[in-house]
This record gives sequence, structure tokens and C-alpha cells, in this order.
Amino acid sequence: MVSIKKRFIAEARCPSCQQQDVLRWWIASNIEWVECVECDFVQQRLPQSVEKSGHQEQTMIGIFRPD
Ligand SMILES: [Zn+2]
Repeated sequence: MVSIKKRFIAEARCPSCQQQDVLRWWIASNIEWVECVECDFVQQRLPQSVEKSGHQEQTMIGIFRPD
């Protein structure tokens, strides 16, 4: 496993506990994650580039399932 760096989002406010500078984000498996260190808030979303094309996922499936 590659170690994942989690970065705090400056001046971001948690939508759950409303505290500031508590959110941090990282990317794992082409999914962008955001979590709060003060409460249980977790959000995941696809990066915009992947979301728009949808092509990258098909390419990866081809790589992992060689016929
Ligand atoms: Zn929070």
C-alpha cells in the first residue's frame, strides 16, 4: 500500500459540526475523500476529470482483466 497524505483544508468549515479548520482530504482509488477530525463527518466524491469522461474506469478494467 502506498502511504496516503491527508491534507487539512484551510478555512474550510465542517457542514456537520460547524467547526473551522477541521476538514482534511486525500485521494484514494480515484475517489476524493473529505473527513472531519472533530466529528464523524465523511464525504467521498469522484474527481471531476474522472466523473466527466467515464472512460478511465473502462481502461482500468481492461488492464486488470486480460482476456
Ligand atoms: Zn465536523
